[in-house]
Amino acid sequence: MIIVLKPNFSEEQLQHICQKIEEMGFRYELSRGVQRTLLGVIGEEDELRNAPLKAIAGVEDVLSVLKPFKLASREFHEEDSVFELGHGVKIGGGSMALIAGPCAIEGPEILLEIAKEVKAAGANVLRGGAFKPRTSPYSFQGLGEEGLKILREVGDETKMPVVTEVMDPRQVDLIDQYTDILQVGARNMQNFNLLMEVGKTDKPVLLKRGMSATIQDLLMSAEYIIAHGNNQVILCERGIRSFDSSTRNLLDLAMVPNAKGLSHLPIVVDPSHATGRPDLIPSMALAAVAAGADGIHIEVHSCPEKAMSDGPQALLPNQFAELAKQIQELALVFNKKVATTP
Ligand code: PEP
Ligand code: MN
Repeated sequence: MIIVLKPNFSEEQLQHICQKIEEMGFRYELSRGVQRTLLGVIGEEDELRNAPLKAIAGVEDVLSVLKPFKLASREFHEEDSVFELGHGVKIGGGSMALIAGPCAIEGPEILLEIAKEVKAAGANVLRGGAFKPRTSPYSFQGLGEEGLKILREVGDETKMPVVTEVMDPRQVDLIDQYTDILQVGARNMQNFNLLMEVGKTDKPVLLKRGMSATIQDLLMSAEYIIAHGNNQVILCERGIRSFDSSTRNLLDLAMVPNAKGLSHLPIVVDPSHATGRPDLIPSMALAAVAAGADGIHIEVHSCPEKAMSDGPQALLPNQFAELAKQIQELALVFNKKVATTP
């Protein structure tokens, strides 16, 4: 931690600052420059961060040397993290996840039909929401536990690990019984009680970036989960809010290499929620592979016009099949592989 003193600080203020630092149990090194005077404070960075050093008179700024997301950082864990998702599917370190399925679980027959199609096309993880975070309270809210049972059965039958969203800390135990991967949605990225609760499970967590969250915000949320005991966090870029209404969100693809430099956690890109447009999803999915994504997440529906949620952005199974083939081929160029399930 570095303390920058104000240009016009007094010697009394300096003495007071040094005394305060020692009272807090930290050491310091003083550096008097021609223009500015700095204090390098030595101690446990997390404790230092919590100390209100900036509130002391004469202090202009307090600069952190280390990242505030320690466990999620690449400095802490140099190698890419690799997680097992189920049925032999891995994510990270050259293994790619291809996550596909409808926005919401609507019933057993339709989910099985879509699951068989996406699996045949090469998807290795099945998605589907049982509890849906809808903007309107009057929209379809999901089938709840009934939906979870359907998802589990279809996942078992088609031999694919499954991912579904958990919206509330009180749902974690229930959803944990049915799913292989817990999804924390964009609207809940900073629901810290939820992050702490999924942090107590041993399931991989697909953590979606909040609509106006910075990359550091996302990594701090990942840190919450890891700090509570679960290091299996998969980051997900799903687009951020922008002024351009021609797409649902703005896909921040630079986030992928950016966050990869900062963190060892695998990254999934979701061009479905990012663009909201089937005509843009294929090119953005491929661009995400080129940007270094460890997984692609696509909403697919066999009859989008009948979908109970996010129909307008769903790819048809044949469109997904064509894209999946291109994703597999492009992945090879980057020494990655989309594993197939049994
Ligand atoms: C979803 O995956 O269906 C979803 C609601 O995603 P997001 O949280 O990214 O909006
Ligand atoms: Mn959706």
